[in-house]
Amino acid sequence: AQERYASIRDKPAETLCGTRLALHMNAGLMADLPSLEGSGAEGVGLFRTELQFLVRAHMPRRAELSELYAHVMDAARGKRVCFRTLDIGSDKVLPYMKVIDEPNPALGWRAVRVALDKPGVMRMQLQALVRAAKGRPLSVMFPFVAQREEFSAANAEMNKALERERILGHPLPSDIEVGAMLETPSLAFAPDSFYREVDFLSIGGNDLKQFFFAADRENELVRRRYDTLNVSFLTFIESIVKRCEAHDTPLSFCGEDAGRPVEAACFAAIGLRSLSMRPASIGPVKSILRRIDLGELYEVIDGVRNAGDQSVRPAVMEYLKGKL
Ligand code: PEP
Ligand code: MG
Repeated sequence: AQERYASIRDKPAETLCGTRLALHMNAGLMADLPSLEGSGAEGVGLFRTELQFLVRAHMPRRAELSELYAHVMDAARGKRVCFRTLDIGSDKVLPYMKVIDEPNPALGWRAVRVALDKPGVMRMQLQALVRAAKGRPLSVMFPFVAQREEFSAANAEMNKALERERILGHPLPSDIEVGAMLETPSLAFAPDSFYREVDFLSIGGNDLKQFFFAADRENELVRRRYDTLNVSFLTFIESIVKRCEAHDTPLSFCGEDAGRPVEAACFAAIGLRSLSMRPASIGPVKSILRRIDLGELYEVIDGVRNAGDQSVRPAVMEYLKGKL
């Protein structure tokens, strides 16, 4: 499939109306990094750091992690890698951590909640990231933040890690950006100060959609029940785009839907300008973006919305059919 899109690999993800999107790839293992070159991605928009923890039998040590993160940055050759701090709990259980029996793991003690309640592992991870970056830009985001205070507390840990390195006399990152994943609807309604405090936001569409529709992403009975192109969900995403625009908060979308060409086209039409997806999706998504006019597509979406239909998919497919 990669070969099929080779001709556009070095071309921009630019629509017919002249709007450029930034397409990034999702990764989690060292083995993913070679795809950065082959796919034409601008960088790694989501590096799922928990994968490194999940493939081990023991908790990794800081020195090991730091070496690994430095290798990841080396392999990216100056392209941005956005490291998401450990996202464990719910469906991701570490073999060497105590299993906690929770009635609703997806709504439970996971990700940044664990990190803030038991900060040891997060501190080690942040130190490892800071040390790996030395002299290079560092980009970090926290998963599953549900309110501003959680971001502030996690960001304070990042500042402590930087201060520690400074006191030790180690070289610091040349630049640092710290963001949050927007995975719970609550963050869409967080105070303005939250939008100013974060350096960027990244919509974790897999989780955001599961919480928006209250439909478990792991449950076959309901996981396909609600369309991402449902008017309610698209309107919700659009409202997040508008809030971010109002505060100049850089926004991207990094759930699986970003890698689905029809969904990606709709996200572009409602104003998203940065998408992160599995490497094999970059070609197909870029290909469709290069054939569409965002104004026309927005009219199609708005038409469905005004007509009161449930999903924009049929009308959007009809519009796209003429373009492929
Ligand atoms: C998401 O929730 O959309 C996301 C990117 O994170 P994960 O799939 O790892 O939960
Ligand atoms: Mg998630």
